[in-house]
Amino acid sequence: MRIERVELFVLRLPLKRAYETSGSRETHQTRVIARVESEGAVGWGESVAPELPWYSGETPKTVWYALDEIIIPALLAADLHQPEDTERILWWIREHRMAKATVEMAIWDLFAKRDGRSLSKVLGGTRDRILCGVAIGIQPSVEELLETIRRELSAGYQRVKVKIKPGWDGSVAEAIRATFPNLPFMLDANSAYTLADTPLFKRFDAYKPTMIEQPLAHDDIVDHAALQRQIETAICLDESIHTGDDARKAIELGATRVINIKAGRVGGLTSARRIHDVCRDAEIPVWCGGMLEMGIGRAHNVHLASLPNFRLPGDVAASERYFETEIIGEPFRVEPDGTMRVPTGPGIGVTVLEKLIRKIAVQTKQYRPPRMTAKVRKAPVKAPAASARSVKKRTARSAAGRSRAATPRSRR
Ligand code: MG
Repeated sequence: MRIERVELFVLRLPLKRAYETSGSRETHQTRVIARVESEGAVGWGESVAPELPWYSGETPKTVWYALDEIIIPALLAADLHQPEDTERILWWIREHRMAKATVEMAIWDLFAKRDGRSLSKVLGGTRDRILCGVAIGIQPSVEELLETIRRELSAGYQRVKVKIKPGWDGSVAEAIRATFPNLPFMLDANSAYTLADTPLFKRFDAYKPTMIEQPLAHDDIVDHAALQRQIETAICLDESIHTGDDARKAIELGATRVINIKAGRVGGLTSARRIHDVCRDAEIPVWCGGMLEMGIGRAHNVHLASLPNFRLPGDVAASERYFETEIIGEPFRVEPDGTMRVPTGPGIGVTVLEKLIRKIAVQTKQYRPPRMTAKVRKAPVKAPAASARSVKKRTARSAAGRSRAATPRSRR
C-alpha cells in the first residue's frame, strides 16, 4: 500500500476539570490528529504528548515537528504491506515515540478499515468488553478526593487510581482505606520520589493499595528493583517502559510486577503489542493507561485493551469525564458493570466527526507523496549492525526524500 494523502490537525480543547499530577496542572489538551488515506479507506490517530515536557520529552510542538519534517515524508516515500511496516520504516528515528504513534495508529486503523475488520480483531484481541478504571488527579482536599471517589464508583468504575506527590501521599492512602475498606485502589506518583522515601512506601503497605505506579525516576529500573525488594505493594512501571526490551529487562531485574501500556508512549500499537506479549510470556499482567485522550485516541485504547493479557482494569474511562466537545459520533461510556464495549465496526469502529475537526482545528497541513523515483521509493531496511557510514547515507537519502515528499499546503 502507498499512502496517498496525510493530513494533520491540531486541536486544543478545554478540560471540564483541571487535571493535576505530581508533574503538572493541565486545563486544556492540545492534540495532533493524523488522517491517512489510501485505497479508498481513511485511518485516524491522535497524539498523547502533554502540553509541557513533564511526562516525556515530547509536546504537541515536537510531535508536529517530527511528523512534519521527518516521519510523514519517510512514510509517503515507502511501501507498506502491513501496519507493522510503519515501525520498520521509522526504526532509525530515535525517541519521538509519541509522534510516531500518532501516525502509526492511524495506519493500523487504515489497514483494518481497508480489510473491513475491527482493529481489535486485527491486533488479536479476545475481549468484547474491557475493564474500566478511572484516574483521579490531585484534589484540593482529602474530603474532595473521597467525594470524587464516591462519584466515580457510583458511575460503575471497578478501580480508582489516585495521583500522589510529596505532601499528598501517606495520609491520602490512609483516608482512602479507612473510608473504603474493600476498594481496589492504586497510587500513581509519576516519578516524584527517590529511594530515600522508602519508609513512606513501607507505610503504604498497611493500606493495601493494589499497586504503586512509577514511584521513582522516569528513566530508572535499578532503584525500582531495590524498592520492590523492600515493600509488599506491587510496583507498576509506566514512564520507564518504552519497548519490549525495556519490559524484559525490568521484569528480569525484579523492578516491576505489573506494566501500564500506553500505545502513545511506546511508539504505537506494534510496540504496545510486543510489550503485551513479553509480559504475557513472563506472567506479568498489564493494563491500558490513559493520557486524557480525545475520542480517537480513546478508541485505539479500547481496542488495544481487548488483548488477552490486559487482565487489570485500565485508565480507559468515559469520554464525557474530560471534554465537553466530542470528536467522535459514538462517545465511549462505561456500563453499569464497570466495563466498556469494544466497537465491532471496521477499524476503530467509531465515526470520526471530520467536519467538526476541520472547523475547530487551530492548525492543519496536508501532505501527498513525492513524484516516484526508484531512489525515493526504497525504504531504509532494518539493519541493526549497520555501520556509522551506512546510517549516514541512509539519513541523507531520507533527507533527500523529505524535500520532495512533503508538499504541504497550509490551510491556516
Ligand atoms: Mg502513570
